[in-house]
Amino acid sequence: MKSINPATEEVIETHEEHDEATVDARLDAAWDRFESWRETPISRREKLLASAADVLREHSEEYASLMTEEMGKPIEQAVSEVEKCAWVCDYYAEHASEFLQDEHIGTVPGSKTYVSYEPIGPVLAVMPWNFPFWQVFRFAAPHITAGNVAVLKHAPNVFGCADAIASVFERAGYPDDVFTSLQIPAERVAGVIEDDRVRGVSLTGSTRAGRAVAETSGRELKPTVLELGGSDPFIVLDDAPLEATAKQAARARTQNNGQSCIAAKRFLVHEGVYDEFVERFTEEMRALTVGDPTDPGTDVGPQARADLMETLHEQVTASVEAGATLRLGGEPLDRPGHYYPPTVLTDVPDDAPARTEELFGPVATVIEVEDETEAIRVANDTPYGLGASVWTADAERGEALTTKLTAGNVAVNHIVASDPRVPFSGTKDSGYGTELSRHGIREFVNTKTVWVE
Ligand code: NDP
Repeated sequence: MKSINPATEEVIETHEEHDEATVDARLDAAWDRFESWRETPISRREKLLASAADVLREHSEEYASLMTEEMGKPIEQAVSEVEKCAWVCDYYAEHASEFLQDEHIGTVPGSKTYVSYEPIGPVLAVMPWNFPFWQVFRFAAPHITAGNVAVLKHAPNVFGCADAIASVFERAGYPDDVFTSLQIPAERVAGVIEDDRVRGVSLTGSTRAGRAVAETSGRELKPTVLELGGSDPFIVLDDAPLEATAKQAARARTQNNGQSCIAAKRFLVHEGVYDEFVERFTEEMRALTVGDPTDPGTDVGPQARADLMETLHEQVTASVEAGATLRLGGEPLDRPGHYYPPTVLTDVPDDAPARTEELFGPVATVIEVEDETEAIRVANDTPYGLGASVWTADAERGEALTTKLTAGNVAVNHIVASDPRVPFSGTKDSGYGTELSRHGIREFVNTKTVWVE
């Protein structure tokens, strides 16, 4: 299992797949640790999490460089990602006990009746390479502080990051095996879910992977959180300030080299401002610096893997063959590394991949709509329901549209982004279950009623 630098195509490290005995030993250790970790006072668990935040901040450059090397994220965005991980640790270090405190029910006279939230055991996290630290920390910070233990199966191209994350917990002083990691391919995940020592599963990744994990977890009756893909609409109304909106649009599409589930992917623009928006947006996309992700001046680095770039290019080519107009980009760059340029497509037919599929790279589909009604119809005309944004000079007008958008995260005049303080979840093929906030920490707990007469 190889980790390959996508900017140079050089092999960084080869990792040995864990054999069955190693997986078995790690699950045993995770289960044993759970027995004592659940008894550790939550105040102690919060303290350790605060130490993990300190470790992340102290070593942010080291961790950021590793992410950039393994998956091509521009270095400044990698540093921000490490800082965001520290933030989610701080957040749950401060709030976990408040979110999980017993809830007394005052309506049953003569009895003491309350709800307690108890950990359930080792929880498997199947994670992707696109935010190799953030996806893991937003899972681990709440759930280990709730008293569960974490078992990570990371994507093989970021196994170095998996080891580095384990080092964060070690450096922070956690007991062994509160966080553990398995070096296994996707084919062996079902066997781990079926194991009695694993009590829940969280997956971030493609809808295809989500369905596979949901199928096994369903059979095993294990709780699941699925954060899957998206084809987020970015709706530009006729009163939107176009200069600022076009800038935000380019940022929303190309953050993380365009490889984000909540990146804006379809730009639905009112016909009154369509031509001007396309022109401004295309110029913003053209102005982005594509190149070496270790250079702080780079806006867009390489795609994380050769096959991912090839799939993206096939989607663009098929859309152009179906009748789409290519306004910018559209060809891999002729240099070592998996570089795909910022690309803008317009006049995309309804059934072309650029409208029907998730484009996981810096490729934007711009669609002209005649009014708000059509914007909402097209926005919801996708199997996904992760994020959506509305751009307008009139925030109330924008807010009125939020109830009509079928998505887990809707923003007005703001790029859709995750934030520890608010829930993050999707609907439809974007998955189910919630991460972050007071809601996320209750996904893998036993909500227990205690009734004392
Ligand atoms: P995958 O969904 O295949 O990978 C994500 C994680 O799931 C990896 O750890 C992977 O393991 C694992 N996985 C894959 N298939 C299964 C399975 N059948 N059972 C259990 N675990 C599985 O994403 P890819 O890396 O292949 O990317 C493909 C597409 O997925 C992207 O182009 C994008 O559209 C979407 N995606 C969405 C993400 C998001 O943030 N929502 C993140 C990444 C991808 P392994 O790598 O070993 O196969």
